[in-house]
Amino acid sequence: MNSFRYPVEEIRERCDLVEIISAHVALRKTGRTFKGLCPFHNEKTPSFHVDPERQLWKCFGCGEGGDVFSFVQKIDSLTFSEAAELLARKVGIEIEHSEKIAKELSERDCIIRANNIACSFFRSMLARSSKVKQYLAKRGLTDTTVDKYRLGYAPSEWDALTNHLRQQRVSPADAVKAGLIVPRENSQGFYDRFRDRLIFPILDTSERIIAFGGRIIGEGEPKYLNSPETALFIKNKTLYGLNFARREAVSQDRLLVVEGYMDAIAAQEAGFANTVATMGTALTEEHVNLIARFTKNVVLSFDADSAGMAAALRSSPIFERAGFITRILSMPKGEDPDSMLRGGDTSRFASLIEGAQPIPDYRVGLALAKYDLNNDEGKVSALNEVIGILAEVESAVERERLIRYLAKYHPNFSTGTTLAEDHLRGEINRIRIRASRNASPSAIGQQRGGSPQTSQKPRVKISLVERSERLLLGIIILRNLDAGKVFDALPPKEFSGESTRLLAEAVSRVYSETGKIDQEALRSEVANTPADRLLTGLLVGIDESAFNYPVDELIEVILDHRKNEQRQRARALAQKIQEGSIKRGDPEYEEWARLVRETSGPWRR
Ligand SMILES: [Zn+2]
Repeated sequence: MNSFRYPVEEIRERCDLVEIISAHVALRKTGRTFKGLCPFHNEKTPSFHVDPERQLWKCFGCGEGGDVFSFVQKIDSLTFSEAAELLARKVGIEIEHSEKIAKELSERDCIIRANNIACSFFRSMLARSSKVKQYLAKRGLTDTTVDKYRLGYAPSEWDALTNHLRQQRVSPADAVKAGLIVPRENSQGFYDRFRDRLIFPILDTSERIIAFGGRIIGEGEPKYLNSPETALFIKNKTLYGLNFARREAVSQDRLLVVEGYMDAIAAQEAGFANTVATMGTALTEEHVNLIARFTKNVVLSFDADSAGMAAALRSSPIFERAGFITRILSMPKGEDPDSMLRGGDTSRFASLIEGAQPIPDYRVGLALAKYDLNNDEGKVSALNEVIGILAEVESAVERERLIRYLAKYHPNFSTGTTLAEDHLRGEINRIRIRASRNASPSAIGQQRGGSPQTSQKPRVKISLVERSERLLLGIIILRNLDAGKVFDALPPKEFSGESTRLLAEAVSRVYSETGKIDQEALRSEVANTPADRLLTGLLVGIDESAFNYPVDELIEVILDHRKNEQRQRARALAQKIQEGSIKRGDPEYEEWARLVRETSGPWRR
């Protein structure tokens, strides 16, 4: 409806779909199209196709598909108008907003506008504060870096931003929704959330400022303060610095995850551009799904004793289930990536990355370090802890590798490796069997990969007739054939299944109104109907060999198969009549009579 106020065609034409999707999915060229892992469902083999000629995308795994607008809408959870605004800006098309339209801007548009204004404000404050400039210089951040990351300063007043936003005509309601200001509890009015803090704007992969992180300057608690979750900012789905890191993560096929904003900036600036930081939360399934769009190789670099490391170790099964290779980089005690890289030691950091250990090895190492392995008592206690870790390793190959490594700590090792290994293997299997018995159905579902919202939709089996009808529609649309002739032989209302019938009717309407099949007209004709997805699938998915199939023959095939299906149905009904479960007067009896009339004649050509 509201699409008419945007120059949709112009935007679509100027956008390069492959480039836009590449920012989110690692695409590889295969023949005429590009292929990659679908960002909308969990998969290990690519079924996500992008067709550069037709500027369409389609996933044959989950059925999602569409054009550049629908991709951007889905990937960033945007409304149509938000996606149009974003793409227009990207390709440099000016969109005029009337007063009325400006009022209609959605909640998320309002949050972004408030955040943009706040970001400029924080940046202007930074230029004025010699205290912060000194702090940044001490941390080794150059002006170029400060500009690139749009760092700012929230002054130590209660209402500096509140007043500025009011002057810029941002309503208090919008500023509260954006998490920038907070209503006072005991009196009227609002106060600034961020005060006397260094400000890190947080951008999403579409380069929109969705939130802020604030680090205290000097002493005070909390050391870091983030925006609250908003309609735009969901911590479990956000990684700081991903807007800069994503391309490098794809080309290096590796992502480095660190703990703090400063660590991420230091690493990116030192040449480790494929680095992101968590938002102070544990890594979740959502994070893993987000990262999987770019790479499945992750190196986690957290402080050894931090809550972040403990959380990272707990999150390892999520990574493993999603088919990741996840390794842990151990920093020397008292160091973090920021401090090490600020000292200029990039080669040491690079070798630490290369030497990062797989998560199970790291956990085993921690467990072994707790015990005195010089006596049997210590060895037994260590192994008791370690078998619990190994039981959680999903890959049998990895389990075996670790069993072989650990056998030397077994008290029976001296009498034979096999005996020690067998004993460990037996204990581990016992734990695994017990765990699978206790697992609730939902936990087992998760083990098989994916939460309910990311799991694959069941594929609906369609009949041979319907499949042929769809192929026929695909061919006449793509080759812009004489649809009149086709629909004389096969009236649109007789097509099988709702979406196929709706598409046939739409093709017939477009053709009879214009004398041709214009794909754009057809797309708008089926927009938001069940035929929408089918059309995209046909346009992207039809294979070259079927494309040249003779239409007359296909019509014959469909007619034959339809008769065949009808005869089968008639036979099944006749059987029921014989059994007495259908009687004269029942609707199914009438159906049988009609089928007999219709199939008794011309099918015996
Ligand atoms: Zn998919």
